[in-house]
Amino acid sequence: MTAREQSPRTLLLWDIDHTLIETRGVGRAIYDRAFPAATGRPLTNLATIAGRTELEIMRESLRCNNIEPTAAMIERLATALVQGYEDARDELATTGRTLPGAKDTLATLAANPAVFQTALTGNLREVARIKLEVFGLVQFLDLEAGAYGDDHHERAELVAIAQERASKRAGVAFTNDATVLIGDTPNDVAAGLTAGVRVIAVATGKSTSEELQSAGATAVVHDAYALAQVLSARG
Ligand SMILES: [Mg+2]
Repeated sequence: MTAREQSPRTLLLWDIDHTLIETRGVGRAIYDRAFPAATGRPLTNLATIAGRTELEIMRESLRCNNIEPTAAMIERLATALVQGYEDARDELATTGRTLPGAKDTLATLAANPAVFQTALTGNLREVARIKLEVFGLVQFLDLEAGAYGDDHHERAELVAIAQERASKRAGVAFTNDATVLIGDTPNDVAAGLTAGVRVIAVATGKSTSEELQSAGATAVVHDAYALAQVLSARG
């Protein structure tokens, strides 16, 4: 059997913000523009964002600005956010950045037939795609297999959604033992632990290594270069 005919054995579920890329304020600026476009009111209060799903963030942001988070309103806000990211591709590319080592690590893993990679992110599906396209990372992940912030409001639920989609795409049943989630916040760690999969935390966001360790991460690394080493050591 050649390498190309091997079935993948490991499913890697990648968070995006502060794990692979950072928008350096562009994401917030897009929210500031999309919110009034969708609601007719300025964004006075924004919900906390790190590690949360977009459904959670949109509901809470609407509520704390005294707007009822109806399904129709959430849909309008989601549409405005996706349009906001489409319109801000150049701004994202010039202001934001790929985190050190992220592209090399994704490329190396993508060349390994034992590994199947997709996204597990709180971002809306289309926002995730735009970010990964802008930063030249989209070709390393099978985005059809991913789970996103418009699939479920609870991040932990996204794990099973991604496993099911990835299993169909790869033609292999990815169990919890075969799944590794990679993220930068205690919310990523909690989601993985609740779902029963291993979590490698990358301390490239706001959370410190100590915080990620005490949240229960299987392993904590300082950057994507170290991540590649941990993943290859685990096979
Ligand atoms: Mg993140």
